[in-house]
Amino acid sequence: MEAKLLFLGTGGSAGVPVITCKCPVCTSTSQLNKRYRPSALLTMGDKNYLIDVGPDFRDQSLHYGVDHLNGVLLTHTHYDHIGGLDELRVYYFKHKLRLPVLASADTYDELRHRFHYLFKTRQADGTLESQLEFEILDDDFGRVSFQGLDIDYVSYFQANMKVTGFRFGSLAYISDIREYDERVIETLQGIDILVLSALRYTPSEVHFSIEEAIEFCRKTGAKRSFFTHIAHDLEHDETNRKLPKDIRLAHDGLEIEFDL
Ligand SMILES: [Zn+2]
Ligand SMILES: [Zn+2]
Repeated sequence: MEAKLLFLGTGGSAGVPVITCKCPVCTSTSQLNKRYRPSALLTMGDKNYLIDVGPDFRDQSLHYGVDHLNGVLLTHTHYDHIGGLDELRVYYFKHKLRLPVLASADTYDELRHRFHYLFKTRQADGTLESQLEFEILDDDFGRVSFQGLDIDYVSYFQANMKVTGFRFGSLAYISDIREYDERVIETLQGIDILVLSALRYTPSEVHFSIEEAIEFCRKTGAKRSFFTHIAHDLEHDETNRKLPKDIRLAHDGLEIEFDL
């Protein structure tokens, strides 16, 4: 089955431009150098699935006309991936349906604490209900059917934070990866397209550098790869000229088709 992935945001945790920064990328007039916080929308038929809901989600949703969501998948609870969780209330109020959210147990526990009010909305009959319907992954690796979407999921680490990555048929979305088990690579064998976080050329304690990301792409054997979660150190066109031909920097608004 054909599906599409739309990049709603391809920036690092600060987005690009970075507040106060006057570097050439932050002051560039090219739309390819404007990056919202990282997020993507997977579309299968008339169903929309959101991957991460960062602090720019309101703008992203308005800009790309995301008028309904069938589910939300969360990678982890760093602010750049969940800061827009409040904005999901609009879908709850409009459709009067609790929005299904797929997340690890770690992610769920953290969100219950940080967004406690979303878990206690008073209903007309006086009862309290969560606006979000969580489906919690019961293991670090496995396969789930989430709202009609078949997903192979993997777990890996970014410093001490456990992060979830997803494979949807021939495409995988792996963000915020630093330390990983070989099982991650095994799960990704045979993919056509890899979406992978790659922050900048210089090393980071929590992200792959470009060089490390290229090495990871090669291990998976992906036919094509798109880097996301990009810092302001990387100018779009200049970086793409230096990258291998099968690996491209993604950009906000880029849409790719793939087989589920
Ligand atoms: Zn991040
Ligand atoms: Zn800058």
